[in-house]
Amino acid sequence: MVEQTQIKAFVDKFNDRVKVSVPLARYSVVGVGGAADLLVDAQSRDDLVQAVNMADALGLPWRVFGGLTNVLLPDDGLRGVVIVNNATSVTFDEPNLRVCVESGKKIVSLARTSVNRGWGGLTWAVGLPGTVGGAVVNNAGAFGGEISKALYRAEVFSVGASPRWVEPDWFDFKYRCSKLKGAGYRWLVTAAEFQLRLGDLEYLTQKATEYTERRGKTQPPGKTLGSTFKNPEGDYAGRLIEMAGLKGSRVGGFVVSTHHANFFINEGNGTACDFITLLQLVQDEVYRKFGVHLESEIEIVSE
Ligand SMILES: Cc1cc2nc3c(=O)[nH]c(=O)nc-3n(C[C@H](O)[C@H](O)[C@H](O)COP(=O)(O)OP(=O)(O)OC[C@H]3O[C@@H](n4cnc5c(N)ncnc54)[C@H](O)[C@@H]3O)c2cc1C
Repeated sequence: MVEQTQIKAFVDKFNDRVKVSVPLARYSVVGVGGAADLLVDAQSRDDLVQAVNMADALGLPWRVFGGLTNVLLPDDGLRGVVIVNNATSVTFDEPNLRVCVESGKKIVSLARTSVNRGWGGLTWAVGLPGTVGGAVVNNAGAFGGEISKALYRAEVFSVGASPRWVEPDWFDFKYRCSKLKGAGYRWLVTAAEFQLRLGDLEYLTQKATEYTERRGKTQPPGKTLGSTFKNPEGDYAGRLIEMAGLKGSRVGGFVVSTHHANFFINEGNGTACDFITLLQLVQDEVYRKFGVHLESEIEIVSE
């Protein structure tokens, strides 16, 4: 439990950008998650670093999130300090075709601005939910593009050291993964710089429209965390789930989408417990029918 003196220290520093006992479901795109003891709305990389240092100095656990588009938060909430990253400044380095952004910038907005300048390299991300920080940590990708391919360098921070710039190799990127995935309670990505390339404005705009339309056609509407499972080697998770006859399967408020079987939809009062039970049911059934183990793409957050 957070003490009054600890709350006061945060309020003195961050004023009304601190909330006490706030339900995380309000911030999660899928509408799931119990209360955080303290929630800090970080508006700059300084805020990010100071919130972490303050939590550490007060002996409180902390965690940073971006758009909360890839995490399932626990029904009983999170203890300590949850930092929501809204640090969004952007600087374009025209001669070098580089763009440097604070990690709370929405990747959709960065991708769209880059396309509008005629800069290629992030066009695939025009419909990707979440922040730049979350995309780096997850090595997010779509339509053959991947964040690690455009990353020039990133600024990272952990308690006890100053923020420092690291090269892409440092992240040990793999498919939808980096060494920081699930480590948002120890490390922060505070900023990232991307190396883009000069493209044809008309071509990039047309590609952006094509990708947006493809998302519109394939992704179901409603409250979802996107693809539930990683695609297994040489196959598609959605295809296997559909072939197992699991479209429309339901646990509590969560249902396997009838539109695209790799998406779970919260139809109302779905809980983290419902989601996990449905996930296990699908994993077991697909394994029983096809001998394939589906691996979760969603990070299931626990204390
Ligand atoms: C409808 C939908 C469609 C999607 N489509 C795709 C897709 O096509 N391709 C794809 O790859 N993903 C997709 N996703 C998943 C998601 O959008 C990406 O994984 C996204 O990059 C997550 O970013 P976020 O800011 O929301 O991260 P969050 O969900 O907030 O956090 C994810 C993890 O990163 C950590 N983290 C976040 N920010 C930081 C930071 N600054 N420093 C350190 N750690 C941090 C968190 O602690 C957590 O462990 C989709 C999701 C949805 C809902």
